[in-house]
Amino acid sequence: MAILPFNIAKQKELNVVIVGGGYAGLTALTNLLQFAPETHVTLIDPREQHLKITHLHETFRYPLTDLLIPFTDICKRFACRFIQANVNLAPDALADYQNKKQLTVNEEALDFDYLVIATGCNAIKSENTNPEELISLSDFSLKNGSDLLTQRLNLNESSESVISIVGGGATGIQFLFEIQKFLYRINHKAKLQLIHSSPHVLNQFPDGFGTYAEYRMQEMGIDFHPNIYYHHQKSGRILLSDKETRNQFELPSSLTLLFTGKNQENTFITNAFGQLIANRLPLPNIFSAGDCAHYQSLGSNALSAQSAVRKGKLVARNILRHSGFPGLMEPYLHQNLGYVVNLGPSDAIGWLVAEGNLITGISALTIKEIVEAQYDLLLSGIDTYLV
Ligand SMILES: Cc1cc2nc3c(=O)[nH]c(=O)nc-3n(C[C@H](O)[C@H](O)[C@H](O)COP(=O)(O)OP(=O)(O)OC[C@H]3O[C@@H](n4cnc5c(N)ncnc54)[C@H](O)[C@@H]3O)c2cc1C
Repeated sequence: MAILPFNIAKQKELNVVIVGGGYAGLTALTNLLQFAPETHVTLIDPREQHLKITHLHETFRYPLTDLLIPFTDICKRFACRFIQANVNLAPDALADYQNKKQLTVNEEALDFDYLVIATGCNAIKSENTNPEELISLSDFSLKNGSDLLTQRLNLNESSESVISIVGGGATGIQFLFEIQKFLYRINHKAKLQLIHSSPHVLNQFPDGFGTYAEYRMQEMGIDFHPNIYYHHQKSGRILLSDKETRNQFELPSSLTLLFTGKNQENTFITNAFGQLIANRLPLPNIFSAGDCAHYQSLGSNALSAQSAVRKGKLVARNILRHSGFPGLMEPYLHQNLGYVVNLGPSDAIGWLVAEGNLITGISALTIKEIVEAQYDLLLSGIDTYLV
């Protein structure tokens, strides 16, 4: 076993089942096997491949296949087992899993010492009244952005095309700038408009983020409609309403791309150590990490890969501590160290170390590259995260 401070292993070979092979689940997997290589890990995910989703907006430049890693390859690399399945995580099912220390998947009973739930957060679903004129985030996990957009634009040959992007958060903005550059590369005259429910884009970040992104949008001729709610897209029109007056109005729009955020309805509450809370009591053998887990602690619950990785690491360490002697676990205290939002292939805005410390351009892009490279190294079995 590699050195894990404050832990003397009691049980020799643990059985750990990890539900969800995203950033948090795979980090828990690699860290468990780093500190306790004899652990038997079973990974369960309904998909066949891990998706490096933080690059998804780049599929206007690179093939989606570059972002996919088959779970069978990951499990071969780390000598663990993969089961393709969707696990029932209803509250009564979880209580049952804890009582029996067993869950049933694809009609197979799986015994575990510890269960890790790392199922992420799905994007908010909209009523897809007209799928030909609507694209959601989940569509990009099935097809290259370039193919998806070209296909839809071909259905609508008009040179007057207007593409609406709904949502000026990090995901919407990253897609907006990529699409703008893509249209320029393919010499398509479609106009872009951004619909956002707040006065400024990127409003969850320090002020400079929105100011800089809006300035770049203006330079590129992208129309911005702040304080506006989206209702639906139909027959070449988008129905919107003013946030204050609630007056409804329509604008021309051939296609709408929805980036309206994540659905946090199915979030699991955990204690500061990552153990799931049910009926106000922790389930000692069930941990949760990533976007689906809200930790009751001082650490960051941001829906970010950065927090997902840190929660995944903590859960791995706490499982080993809990199973060993003296059983003392470590609370989650991670604070974000920075965040970079891409503004197309050659620009970005971010903060590093302190929120007032803004960076743009090549410096921001370089930081983002380093962070992504760190995650790639983790998946190859080399953990370079210091905190
Ligand atoms: C375009 C884009 C860009 C982003 N860029 C950044 C960035 O630059 N920096 C950053 O920090 N964050 C970024 N994020 C956010 C980041 O990707 C998420 O916060 C991160 O993926 C959360 O990791 P996770 O492991 O919790 O969930 P996910 O990575 O979403 O993984 C969840 C996994 O669980 C599986 N699953 C779901 N339900 C079940 C079930 N019932 N049973 C079994 N398995 C299940 C899913 O198939 C999936 O594989 C970005 C997000 C997007 C969409």
